[in-house]
Amino acid sequence: MATLLVQRVVARSLVPTASIRAFSMSRSAALATHRPEAPNSTGPTLISPVHDQLNIGLDHNPDKPRSHLARPPAQAPNYSDGPSALEKAGQLFLFTELARGLWITLENFFRPPYTIQYPFEKGPLSPRFRGEHALRRYPTGEERCIACKLCEAICPALAITIESEARDDGSRRTTRYDIDMTKCIYCGMCQEACPVDAIVETQTLEFATETREELLYNKEKLLANGDRAETEIASNIYADHLQR
Ligand code: SF4
Ligand code: SF4
Repeated sequence: MATLLVQRVVARSLVPTASIRAFSMSRSAALATHRPEAPNSTGPTLISPVHDQLNIGLDHNPDKPRSHLARPPAQAPNYSDGPSALEKAGQLFLFTELARGLWITLENFFRPPYTIQYPFEKGPLSPRFRGEHALRRYPTGEERCIACKLCEAICPALAITIESEARDDGSRRTTRYDIDMTKCIYCGMCQEACPVDAIVETQTLEFATETREELLYNKEKLLANGDRAETEIASNIYADHLQR
């Protein structure tokens, strides 16, 4: 094995580089001038050697002259539309690009910063922002939810669990309304499906907890969220009512 390797290295070192280059150039020239002479060939002979070898042609009529298949001569690029040489020289020697770049820097230096000092400063939120969930009541204090379970059915994350019972007056109300906030993907489909605007997503976004159990919301927690943010929820629903 070692002998074979030594023989190959010696053979390579003996072949001069110029010979290899001459061989590859002659091979390229042969390929460029190659024309298939087979009588049944249907491909064009004037497009390229690759076309000849693959027998690909634009015109398969052997009686037609093939001179029209030759490539058109390369067109010289037209530079008449661009800046003149004088303009280019002026930009180059007067540093106009540098001055324009520095002007943009100066403009932005005196603009108010785009960054805010969160959590001491907060950016605006859309009325459609989908944050922490809440269950709403009517102004009389009565729960809005009628336990139709549409929100539970539509929730793609299966995060909502509802149990209900009929009351003495014949209405139906929930006895259990749980949302697993660790499953929720804040898609907003529950509030879109609700016929009485009972379940909503508030603009509260800071409700991180230390334990997972704290994110398993029950009906009391959701109603408390609704009582706390009712003014904000009502104004957001009103601001969005034309799009609903
Ligand atoms: S926001 Fe989407 S994922 Fe979350 S509870 Fe509502 S429907 Fe389910
Ligand atoms: S929150 Fe709305 S959609 Fe869900 S059960 Fe109650 S009334 Fe139906």
